[in-house]
Amino acid sequence: MASDPIVDSPVLVLEGNILWQFENLSEFGTQTLKMQVALGTLSGEILLDMSAAPPKGPRVAKQSTGVPEINVDLSHLEMLWAFIYGWMVVYEERVQKQQIDPTKLINAETTKLVNRAQELLAWSASLRESYTAWPASLPSPRHYATEQEEWYGLKANLVFQKAVAFLLSHERAHAALGHLEVIQRADGAGFRLDMERDADAAAYDDLLGQSLDDREKAPEAWAVVSVMLSTFYLYKAPRNALLPSGHPALHHRVAHMLRRLALADPHYDYYFSFLCRLVLQAVFPEVLQPTRQFDDWEDALTDALDRLDHLSGAQ
Ligand SMILES: [Zn+2]
Repeated sequence: MASDPIVDSPVLVLEGNILWQFENLSEFGTQTLKMQVALGTLSGEILLDMSAAPPKGPRVAKQSTGVPEINVDLSHLEMLWAFIYGWMVVYEERVQKQQIDPTKLINAETTKLVNRAQELLAWSASLRESYTAWPASLPSPRHYATEQEEWYGLKANLVFQKAVAFLLSHERAHAALGHLEVIQRADGAGFRLDMERDADAAAYDDLLGQSLDDREKAPEAWAVVSVMLSTFYLYKAPRNALLPSGHPALHHRVAHMLRRLALADPHYDYYFSFLCRLVLQAVFPEVLQPTRQFDDWEDALTDALDRLDHLSGAQ
């Protein structure tokens, strides 16, 4: 079933940056992307599916030539950028700044900034039902109504590029580790969870290989957390993401990435744990009542993960 292509997508202004990320993925083991391409273990091109259809996550598949190629949906890139921008604005303006100074009044400009970010988030969450074009009036990589929006947009661009690098690196790892052959075997499905964990680990090492302190790795942490949390936006029934099906249960992937980030500075540990709790709360309002109070952010996140375990067990 072919759908019409997306016309004039605003994320395509970042196409050059995405290709740069792909061409400059760090060495895999001892192999550069160029070597993988020369060996025929990965195509040097990315297949961009422009269909105006609900987004699916990236995947890697063998072409008719036998060479694996990474496929990316343009609708997924749009959803991902909108997710990052939207949550960044809402979280920083509505939660972080208020917690730092609860007496600070929210002015009309900030209210507008947050409302527009929330509208963008609502659009990105709606894509899983049916694709609609990016609302032209809302923020995008090529349209900002104010300087504040542009400031957040530039921050979102950086995180988005790193998130895309993580996704591409994950798919590249599947090809480089021989996973495609295993998956095709009759008994391959049993290895699938381990292969997904290996691909996540390889992508993580690619993005966060060099030792960075907590402040330096904040954009990477945003990227990894966004990749995981935005995956809930790919499911018409987000509950299904809580069950392992190919990939490990999504809330476990979120928790695993937070553990790997091992943010030592309490400020950053809190920042990302609480962000995860808030997004999970928005995705599962029926089980994560926002009014509950917790002693600390670790309890709040642990509580969310436990409740989601319970929910997935109840299915
Ligand atoms: Zn995978």
